[in-house]
Parts: sequence; C-alpha cells; structure tokens
Amino acid sequence: MTVNADSSFSIASSWRDLPAAQQPDYPDLEALRAVTTELQGYPPLVFAGEADQLRARLASVARGEAFLLQGGDCAEAFDQVSADQIRAKLKTLLQMSAVLTYAAAVPVVKVGRIAGQYSKPRSKPTETRDGVSLPSYRGDSVNGPEFTAEARIPDPERLRRMYHASAATLNLVRGFTTGGYADLRQVHAWNQDFVRTSASGQRYEALAREIDNALNFMKACGADPAEFHSVEFYASHEALLLDYEAALTRVDSRSGRLYDVSGHMVWIGERTRQLDGAHIAFAASISNPVGVKIGPTTTPEEALALIDRLDPEREAGRLTFITRMGADRIRDLLPPLVERVTASGAQVAWVCDPMHGNTFEAASGHKTRRFDDVLDEVKGFFEVHKGLGTHPGGIHVELTGDDVTECVGGGNEILVDDLHQRYETACDPRLNRSQSLDLAFLVAEMYRG
Ligand code: PEP
Ligand code: MN
Repeated sequence: MTVNADSSFSIASSWRDLPAAQQPDYPDLEALRAVTTELQGYPPLVFAGEADQLRARLASVARGEAFLLQGGDCAEAFDQVSADQIRAKLKTLLQMSAVLTYAAAVPVVKVGRIAGQYSKPRSKPTETRDGVSLPSYRGDSVNGPEFTAEARIPDPERLRRMYHASAATLNLVRGFTTGGYADLRQVHAWNQDFVRTSASGQRYEALAREIDNALNFMKACGADPAEFHSVEFYASHEALLLDYEAALTRVDSRSGRLYDVSGHMVWIGERTRQLDGAHIAFAASISNPVGVKIGPTTTPEEALALIDRLDPEREAGRLTFITRMGADRIRDLLPPLVERVTASGAQVAWVCDPMHGNTFEAASGHKTRRFDDVLDEVKGFFEVHKGLGTHPGGIHVELTGDDVTECVGGGNEILVDDLHQRYETACDPRLNRSQSLDLAFLVAEMYRG
C-alpha cells in the first residue's frame, strides 16, 4: 500500500485500536513511551531496498525456482551476543546451504532467525515452580529468565537493549558474509570435515565427493565467480512486540511505502495470527516480505483470509506460509490447505517448520524434540507437495552452531538421559551443529529422491 509521509502515522498505528495478544504488561507506560520515542529516531537496522531484494528472492521460492533456508535460535539472548556464537550459527547455516544448493540445484535463500529474535509468545502467562507462581519469561526484550519476581517485571529499557544487540549482531553478520568468511570452498572444506569426523558422516560421503568434483571442475575451467566469495544473507524475527516494531517502522523515501526496518523479513506467530487482531493489521501495513506460522487448527478459509489481508495484490514473494503441523499430522492437514490456496491463484511460498509441532516434555522435565520427528515432518512436507505438484519451498528450523544437548537423536545419538549435559536454550530446544548438518544432508537426499 502506498502512503504519503503525512498519513503514515495513522496507517502505521491502525493496529493500536485492535486487540494485541501476547503483549507485556508494562507497569510504567511513561517509561515505555520514552523508549519508543527514542527508538523512532534511531537509524534503521536494514534498508527497504534490501527487504525488496529478499522479497524478489522469495518470489523465486514461491515460483519453485529457489529454496528457503531459515534458521537460528528459538530465542536469542543478550548474554549470548558474542563473535563465537554468531560465527558458529552462521557457519552452520552456510554449511547447510552449500549442501542444499547442490542437491536442489536451485539457489538457496539464506535467512537467519537472528538480530532481533528476542521476544517469545508463551502458552501460559505464569510459570509455577515449587508452588510459587510468577509471570512467564517472555524473551530478553521483555523480562529476565531468572525465577524471581523482580526479573519477571517487563522493563521497556530492554527494547533499547534489543535494538543495540540486534545492531551489533547484524554488523558482524554483514562482515562475515561479505568479508571472505563465507567463501564457498571454505564452507565445503568444513563440510568435508563434518563428513570425516561425524558418526553419520560415511552416509554423506558420496554427496560430499560429488560437490568436491563439481568445485574442482569449476576451478579447472578457470571459473571463480564472485558468488563463491560472499553470500547474500538476511535477518528475520517474529514481529511480536508491536511497540518495538512500530517504533522501527519508517516511510521509505523512494516509494512512500512503510517498511519495518528492524529486520528484512518478519513473521507473525501461531498465537498472534488472529484475523481481527493487531498483529495481522500491523503486518498488512508494511511492505516487507512477511511470514505467518500456520498450525494444525488452520482451516483453508483462514488461510485464504490471511492471503486477502496480507497479500491482496497476489504478489509472489510477499507472503510465506510457515507450516508447523507435527510429524504425525502433516500428511493429513497440509494437502487441503495447499490445494485451496493454489486453486485461489495465490502464489505463497510454502515453508516447513518441523520444530514447533514436535515438542514434548522428557521425564527429566526438559522440553525436547526428536530428530526423527523433525526429519519425518520435513519428509511429509516433501511428499505432500510432490503429490500435489506444488513446490516444497524451504525449511524453517531452530538451531545453534554449538554442541548443545537439547534435541534427542541425530547421527551422534543424543539420548534423553544426555539432555541435562548442555541444555542451554533460552526457550525451545534447538538442533545442535551436527544435528543441523545431518538434517541438511538428509533433506538433500530427499530433494534428489
Ligand atoms: C517460534 O517460532 O519460536 C514460535 C513460537 O513458533 P509458533 O508461533 O509457530 O508457535
Ligand atoms: Mn520456538
């Protein structure tokens, strides 16, 4: 939607009259206003032109000409904004992407859940431990994870910290992806290391050798394209805290359109995608590519209504449906949605989140996921699209570059009894580095199979 600078305020804030789920209950609204006023004057974290470029890439995904790899922490944390953490995450995503690019033989659009993924919707407003109930932790952008009454009070100062943590993260990501660290031959060498040293590596040897041959062939031909030396990488997060997202929404001087400049792409979560709610109204007002999480209760009518609200012009690349059905249900629940949406003429990108429908609590009390369920949901996603002749557009995963023990299974066979060893997530359990690479190689096999 095109707006004049003058009318942008009313459009950007039209969501304010609507019910907004999952917002913090700030005790001091004056303090909130002071912070958001300051944020409105801060420089954008991304440029509208970059968001447009991602939108064009996602249009290729929607048309079946590219694959989306979207991944990162469930929740980023302020005390984990370090070069090592960011590098490890990026390295893992780049390694996955190299394997997927070769197997899918189409460009892989790389989008991190990064540089802004600090806010969490919660299924319960309170958390109870040993008979004591406190407000739930809602992400570092809202309150603290410590189980004390003080830490759990929402503090608007945290919005400012989120901005600065996001800026620092994005700055390093930009440095890594354009400054030589992302060199494809280097990324391939890391993959060769993984194949050599991981428990499941042998299985992937043939694929790794094929990639090696392809790179050697290019080298022998004297081909050394610029694309081998840097990568296009985008940042995304859930647009949950509307005060923050609105404070970072600006009119693009080139087009007069509104962009949320807190990230290239934002998505609306399963718990906040009410058609008459503030989040969908906010997403409708911005021109970034937007995603919507679609869970098992979604009806085809709801999906079509979301398209009407968010993609009235039916522009490929604008809207991505991120499905999260659960491994045991995706084969039944996804086909009617894809069929009806396709029949409507809309061109959405279909992306599989194989994490959020497969969470359970282990006897130890740890929230966890089975690697085999994650893989099976992706398998089901590919089967459904193959059956309907539509495009399995990509995967959206919660992962880290560290050797944590949060999900069970995978090539290194993490057992339920191992979970306590390195369970570090600020929210949901993530695939660790080797589980993420396992997934990429197995999805690559699926793509070819
Ligand atoms: C998430 O992506 O971390 C999340 C909360 O997902 P969903 O909205 O699908 O439950
Ligand atoms: Mn999550």
